[in-house]
Amino acid sequence: GATRTKNVLILMSDTGGGHRASAEAIREAFKLEYGDEYNIIVKDVWKEYTGWPLNDMERQYKFMVKHVQLWKVAFHSTSPRWIHNCYLAAIAAYYAKEVEAGLMEYRPDIIIIITDLNSCHPTWFHPGVNRCYCPSKEVAKRAALDGLEDSQIRVFGLPIRPSFALAILSKDELREELELDPDLPAVLLMGGGEGMGPVKKTALALGESLYDKELGKPLGQLIIICGRNKVLKSTLESHEWAIPVKVRGFETQMEKWMGACDCIITKAGPGTIAEALIRGLPIILNDYIPGQEKGNVPYVVDNGAGVFTRSPKETARIVKEWFSTRTDELKRMSENALKLAQPEAVFRHREGHPRTCASTRSSCEYPLRIDIIFRKLNMID
Ligand code: UDP
Repeated sequence: GATRTKNVLILMSDTGGGHRASAEAIREAFKLEYGDEYNIIVKDVWKEYTGWPLNDMERQYKFMVKHVQLWKVAFHSTSPRWIHNCYLAAIAAYYAKEVEAGLMEYRPDIIIIITDLNSCHPTWFHPGVNRCYCPSKEVAKRAALDGLEDSQIRVFGLPIRPSFALAILSKDELREELELDPDLPAVLLMGGGEGMGPVKKTALALGESLYDKELGKPLGQLIIICGRNKVLKSTLESHEWAIPVKVRGFETQMEKWMGACDCIITKAGPGTIAEALIRGLPIILNDYIPGQEKGNVPYVVDNGAGVFTRSPKETARIVKEWFSTRTDELKRMSENALKLAQPEAVFRHREGHPRTCASTRSSCEYPLRIDIIFRKLNMID
């Protein structure tokens, strides 16, 4: 009709890979559902509108997750309410004008804020939002404890890119397209958007465990996705392997790589876990970022969809068994993974459009909350 295209402004911080993936998930879902009715704008608000230290969050995040103790302190020391309120109020006051001017240029009809939760940072809950979409019941409970009304809370799962949910090529076709061995079982090894965790040691251990010395042939193949970690990629590329190995950088079609494999090894990132569950991949969790990712470990392990171990040798032994003597366990875990999966989460926001909503992810690498700023701007009632 004659109505103008509505603007949807999605705000996020491009740390790791998960925020970007959630933002893309919502963008694609809007396109599939509404075509051109909505104009979707994705903005990294800190980078574009604010000064140091906020515009430097990506670099700081990378530094901090590499120095885990420091991150622990940062996460927990900003947790008590009185601290983060003062902290955020100060930041909001300082940057509000600039952020407001920048954001209002887009004339947004709805603002979606990508936050994260699970072992969640309390700064992500704000009673002023119209809706808070939570990835799990546990998170919803915490939102209620933090002052949100039941009418504001919805449990919809993590927004996952629709390409994961829609029917895609069969495993055989994917293997052909990605130039993988058609017959050998395949393990996918990764560490989030930044290629973090014990990826290198695990790769080397798998290179040995998946080679059957007696028969003189490989038991499986290995795919390593290094994300933006260029040093990791070049180190692994220069290694000589006894089994078929593919080393890749940042991939944009993760659903294909996951669809071509039989299990996955990853740090406990919520995005990667949710995607692996949709593809029915048993998961070996080999690391987590303290604070925000810790709660993801029991979620996977207690539901029988995977195991946790920090030891690369142990990981390599488990994969070897899954590919030889314990194929039944692999199959059972795959079924459990599919039971936990929520591929439709991104399509469930169908009840009219709140002016602002916080779409939550089950992690929280970004301990700052932008809705405080919005309240300052009177954008939240
Ligand atoms: N990812 C990707 N390409 C890569 C590596 C990662 O698209 O090469 C995506 C991955 O599919 C997931 C996200 O980045 O959606 C990682 O999110 P997660 O929450 O697991 O960890 P983070 O990187 O945010 O710490």
